[in-house]
Amino acid sequence: MIYLDANATFPPRTEALAAMQAALAETGNASSAHAAGRAARARVDAARAEIAAANGVAAAEIVFTSGATEANALALRAKAACVLVSAIEHDSVLKNAGGEFLPVDANGVVKLDELEKLLAKAVAPALVSVMAVNNETGVIQPIAEVLRLVRAAGGFLHVDAVQALGRLPLFWAEADLISLSAHKIGGPQGVGALIVKPSVALEPLWRGGGQEHGVRAGTENVAGIVGFAAAAREASREIGAFQKLAVWRDAMERELGVEVAGKDAPRVANTSCLIHPRLSAEVALMKLDLAGFAVSSGSACSSGRVKASHVLAAMGMAKKAQESAIRVSLSPKTQENEVKSLVACWTQL
Ligand code: PMP
Repeated sequence: MIYLDANATFPPRTEALAAMQAALAETGNASSAHAAGRAARARVDAARAEIAAANGVAAAEIVFTSGATEANALALRAKAACVLVSAIEHDSVLKNAGGEFLPVDANGVVKLDELEKLLAKAVAPALVSVMAVNNETGVIQPIAEVLRLVRAAGGFLHVDAVQALGRLPLFWAEADLISLSAHKIGGPQGVGALIVKPSVALEPLWRGGGQEHGVRAGTENVAGIVGFAAAAREASREIGAFQKLAVWRDAMERELGVEVAGKDAPRVANTSCLIHPRLSAEVALMKLDLAGFAVSSGSACSSGRVKASHVLAAMGMAKKAQESAIRVSLSPKTQENEVKSLVACWTQL
């Protein structure tokens, strides 16, 4: 199989696997007072410090969660007078927010003038949520400008940085709340974090043993957290190498000559949202799967079902294009000949 779906889940890193295997073999609840418990706590604390360093934040600001879906849900429970989220957010943000959505332009970049207008009529303090990088198109959002507007209006900013960590330098680190997911950087699935700055007060999703500063009760997933830290360290080291993927991605787009969503905006190096000129995403995916390629429909596809993309809809794309979007996302494990094989296969579909 040729795996070109790194934005869905990143190939596991050997360093993360080794760290997890060692941690899984140990006994000890990080909340226990005895030596075994203290050892587990030490492993969690070391991982917390490492993830904080990889994100340019303080260790005390990290709250471990079961992934970015939970981190996003928790972030949207920050105390604020109203919530304002962009129209291209992941469903885990959209479905936890209501009201008016911040629009994007034809390239999928949030409209700063609209944000300014919405903030002017919103009751302060507003909680604004804008992702750093879109998972479907790879389009990078102007977080520094968004933050300036949010601060000027006395609000808070949440950034879903799931598709940005390890791919770009930390241009989102000043936000008040930041969501991360381990499996998007080569760590395990089912673990993530919310970075919570001292400026924010959070309402927990559930209460219990008081772990994670009382914000997220539940016995820590020690092995998952340790694997997350190893992946974060390796991902930070690899940012330079990651940029080289753009050369193969751009060559692929040129050779295919199809419409590419967000092509005129800055994008992360590995992502391409290709619009098939004839086939629906469902049919194209099936054919590519049979030919041995793992790619994704443009939209988040849950339980294997392909639906039209809310991201492409927000960009003003026609319904047919929304239903014909194929996302190809490369990883540092991708080989150039794999991308070339995809191009060859695509032209035969
Ligand atoms: N946000 C973005 C931008 C994502 O791409 C994803 C995963 N598709 C999530 C949130 C959810 O992350 P998790 O799988 O850790 O729940």
